[in-house]
Parts: sequence; structure tokens; C-alpha cells
Amino acid sequence: MDDTDDEFRFETRSIHAGQSPDEETGALMTPIHANSTYVQDGPGDHRGYEYSRTGNPTRTDLEANVASLESGEYGRAFSSGMGAINTVLNVLESGDHVVASEDVYGGTHRIFTQVYEKYDLEFDFVDMTDLDETEAAMRENTELVWVETPTNPLLNIVDIAATADIADEYDALSVVDNTFATPYLQRPLELGADAVCHSLTKYMGGHSDVIGGALVTNDEELDEEFGFYQNSVGATPGPHECFLVLRGTKTLPVRMDRHCDNARQLAQWLDDHEAVERVYFPGLESHPSHDLAAEQMDDFGGMVSFELDASLEETADAVSATEVFTLAESLGGVESLIEQPATMTHAAIPREEREAAGLDDGLIRASVGIENVEDLKADFEQAFETALR
Ligand SMILES: *Cc1c(COP(=O)(O)O)cnc(C)c1O
Repeated sequence: MDDTDDEFRFETRSIHAGQSPDEETGALMTPIHANSTYVQDGPGDHRGYEYSRTGNPTRTDLEANVASLESGEYGRAFSSGMGAINTVLNVLESGDHVVASEDVYGGTHRIFTQVYEKYDLEFDFVDMTDLDETEAAMRENTELVWVETPTNPLLNIVDIAATADIADEYDALSVVDNTFATPYLQRPLELGADAVCHSLTKYMGGHSDVIGGALVTNDEELDEEFGFYQNSVGATPGPHECFLVLRGTKTLPVRMDRHCDNARQLAQWLDDHEAVERVYFPGLESHPSHDLAAEQMDDFGGMVSFELDASLEETADAVSATEVFTLAESLGGVESLIEQPATMTHAAIPREEREAAGLDDGLIRASVGIENVEDLKADFEQAFETALR
């Protein structure tokens, strides 16, 4: 269905976009093209593929699939989300300035400050839920506005359309890391962003068995630049990884529906629980960005954060006592994961800064899986009883 993608709805494209049965063998699934090189019919006369860093047919299918889901024309796949993020930074020049969400993914903060500051790129991190703060941070040399929404771990929502407008005013690129929402729930290109970035490792792959990344854009020139750096830097995925992500995106809509349902029910249950001080879930009306989330997203996602009325140690005991929820970093797989930001994903942030950002000792982040939600509630109940006696 390569040429007629646009006629079909999301669930159909997630299964078919970018893929068609192998012409020679009829193989229904995209083959894992385990090749480094390709025969040429004469010197320089090849059939579209010369060398697999530059292009590989399994990767081509994945790139077309992810692009279609993001309502984009052009897709590029990478060996990790960080490989994709690096490629966006490659497009900049030294002396350029970047405005980014203050609670970006830790690895994004690290590559910005610890890798690219030494090449004289400048970064400002602002609270992007406040558009005035974003606007105030813009400078003449601002070339990139980096948005992450929902944010991690407090699940605040940034207005993508309004932020892309601000970037436009200053002739800066706007790029949205859409890893948490996935294109099933939120399509930044439709809202005016210039490019979308993904860690395919999370919901897109969906089974915690592969690392990958992607960039999607509708801007042909920008895509060509991405392609140049993709090939020049070489953070490209192998065909087996591409195959696994393609298998994952086929079930993205049904998985996301269940993730969202389970998260909604669990958030409500936690909100009513006496051991829980506060729940952060954009689907709750009490969430400060609930209205914006309802407008910008098709559903509220599978991540739930909450604060126990408990010490650092008691909270550590609670996340250690769960049996269905696995104690682990990362997110987006079919299985439920739980973590304590203060001691795990956000441990590198000094305590004072952490608390000022609202990340208290009692905070817990859950990636709600697609198990039976009653088992998830019962698991929390027994973990709270064990830890908070
Ligand atoms: C995991 C993650 C990344 C980095 O992706 P990798 O595949 O681990 O390299 C970037 N952004 C967000 C929001 C993530 O969750």
C-alpha cells in the first residue's frame, strides 16, 4: 500500500504502511535483510542499495512505516533514540543557541550539556508549560526549540502548536520528542512542529527487547540533512532491530488503548487511596494541564506518577515490594515497570534542585503495562501494606 498510504486510517497504516509482500518469494513479512553490501549490475549501476549503513531494505520499510504514523513524508531510523537526537544537533553550527524543556529526558540533558556545549552550542532549559518563559528565552541565534511532552516524570503538557509558532517567529526549528505519547496519541507535525524524534525503544517497539530511534519530517531539505548525518555519523540500526520495531508498530494502537485504560483506572484508584498524597496523570481533571492534554492528545498515555506520604526509605521499600510491577528504569513495554525517580532515573540531580522541580522523595513513576488492571491495583495495595506499616 506504499503509494496509497494516506487513504487509510492509523490502525491500518500501523500494520501495512511501508510494507508489501516480497515480490520474488511472496514473503508476507518484511525480510531481515542481513547484508552489508549489494551486487551492482555494472559499476555504479545499483538497484537502490549499495551499503547498509547508507540504506537497507528492512530499514527502508521501518522508516516509511514510522513516517506514515507521524503524518510525515520522510523518516530516518537510528540505532537508538540518542542517535536520532544527536542527528538533530549535527544540523546546528557552533555558536547556535537551543531552548529546551527543563525536564527533558536525562540522556537529552546529558548530550546537550556534556557533549555539545564543548562545541560552543548554548542551551537554555525553561519551563515550557509557560509560553512566556519560552518566548523570553528566544534569542537572535536560537536555531532549535526542543520540546518534550508529556514531560518526565510529572507528566506536564507543553502546547506544541503555540511553541512551534514561537520557534517560527525566530526562524528556529521546532523538534518534539514524541516518545511518551507516540503518534497514536499525538502527532506534532500536524500541530506545526518541523520534526519529530523518537526513542523506538519504548512504546513503538513495545516489548522491551530492542533499542532504536527515529526522526520524521515533512521538510525535504531537512530530511536530506538528517540523511547526510545519519550516513556520515553511522548510528544506524541493524535489520533485526528494524524488524522487531516493525513487528511492534503493528500492535501499537491496541497496546496503547490498553495502556491508556489501565493507566486511567489506576490513576483514579491511587487518587482515592489514603496512602497517596498526590497523583500526576494528565487524564485526571485535577492535573494542571488536563484541558490542554485533552485538546492536544487523543488519550492521556500509559505513564502515571504519584507521591506517597512517605520517606525516601519507605518509598524505596514500596517500589521494591511490588510483584507484578518490575523495579526497572525505562517504559513503554507491555509489562508494568515501577521506579523511584529520586534514587533512580533522576538521582544525578542534586536534592535541592530535585525538590525545587517537584521531584520529592516519595515520588514514584509507573509505566503501566497491559496486564489485568485489578492485578495491578492489588499489587500496589500489598506493596503499600508491606512498606508503610
Ligand atoms: C528513552 C528515551 C530517549 C532515549 O532513547 P534511547 O533509545 O534510550 O537512546 C529519548 N527521549 C525519551 C523521552 C526517552 O524516554
